[in-house]
Amino acid sequence: MPKIQMKTPLVEIDGDEMTRVLWSMIKDALITPFVELKTEYYDLGLPHRNATQDAVTLDAAAAIKKYGVSVKCATITPNAQRMREFPELTKMWRSPNVTIRAALDGIVFRAPIVIACIQPAVRSWRAPIIIARHAYGDIYSAAELYADEPGEAKLVFTGDSGKTRETPMPRVDSPSVWLGMHNKDSSIRGFARACFGYAASEKLDLWFSAKDTIASTYDGRFRDIFEEEYETGFRDTFEKLGITYFYTLIDDAAARVMRSPGGFVWALQNYEGDIFSDMISSAFGTLALMTSVLVSPDGCFAYEAAHGTVTKHFYKYLAGEETSTNPTATIFAWAGALKKRGELDGLDELAAFGEKLGAACVSVISGGVMTRDLAPLTDGSVPVQTVNTREFLDAVQAKLT
Ligand code: NAP
Ligand code: MG
Repeated sequence: MPKIQMKTPLVEIDGDEMTRVLWSMIKDALITPFVELKTEYYDLGLPHRNATQDAVTLDAAAAIKKYGVSVKCATITPNAQRMREFPELTKMWRSPNVTIRAALDGIVFRAPIVIACIQPAVRSWRAPIIIARHAYGDIYSAAELYADEPGEAKLVFTGDSGKTRETPMPRVDSPSVWLGMHNKDSSIRGFARACFGYAASEKLDLWFSAKDTIASTYDGRFRDIFEEEYETGFRDTFEKLGITYFYTLIDDAAARVMRSPGGFVWALQNYEGDIFSDMISSAFGTLALMTSVLVSPDGCFAYEAAHGTVTKHFYKYLAGEETSTNPTATIFAWAGALKKRGELDGLDELAAFGEKLGAACVSVISGGVMTRDLAPLTDGSVPVQTVNTREFLDAVQAKLT
């Protein structure tokens, strides 16, 4: 069979531990036999990040901006324990994901892979619910205060012009806690654009919810900016695609989500996104079936698995034990990236291959062949055959040939 040709290179970002092992296994079994792979390779494995003083992470981010599509392996974020584990580290390098997200000013969309024999905890959910979490401001960069006597507070803003604006807060007659948070028009607008762009690219409805009846200035600003962006930049596209934009109050949205069949993007502010992304992913099944894509307001797409480097499995692997690590989310990262690259380059065959790759994984698992982590989650509708990673990849490969 002739291999599928590529036009623009894909930015390939390698990583650490068990997922680094999976990375080359996936490429060898599922990508290079079918695609004449053209990538710009960046090694973000911790040793190479350290050797380059983390310059490689910035280079990778610049490459994503240049080419527009990347696929990333999970990477170690060093912490105190990792500093002991790797004494050669010259610095506690910051999370590559944080660096890349900051460079792209991007938003992370997390989508569960839905498989018939793995029932979500919510029975009505048939299609994925994709959470888009705003990643700037609110309580994550707030100022807090505890006051141990009666008194009053006010919120004061001093402009660079010297002009001040202030607003009083309630008077209290006992010890009290206070919180001041902010967000920026530019960040909210970037968030809105990334959400509309992603929903259009996936042909899914977009929901946005906040509490603008209570926080009429703060959440009201979010609502207005979403509305503006929709009207000026996306209404036509949405109508052509037959998808809708829907704003509702956060509590109403929470109630509706639980009764919905799924199949939409749910955009949320930072704190609500933090909570609901964990709730939705655990209700859909497992982190090993959760995909993730970072989308920038100017249309760059960085695909990865939502899980980490699966350290425990890596140490078993190093000890020569057989591992049954689930490569599905990482395969989906490749599938998503190849599909997007194909779409952007007008290469139908490449886009179709990306689609087929994801479908092949789903088909193998639906048929009962799965890694050890998934077996306990199945509903008994198919006989389950637990396999190791190699056997799973072989089964997916067989679907592609
Ligand atoms: P993790 O790698 O996601 O793994 C946590 C546990 O979840 C595993 O021990 C395993 O459970 C299960 N699991 C996750 N993915 C799996 C898969 N594909 N197949 C089977 N089981 C899977 O999280 P972690 O152990 O907390 O973090 C390890 C490293 O990853 C850390 O250094 C962290 O900084 C990094 N990390 C990176 C990213 C990223 O690059 N995007 C994201 C998160 C974490 P059992 O052991 O019970 O089988
Ligand atoms: Mg969280």
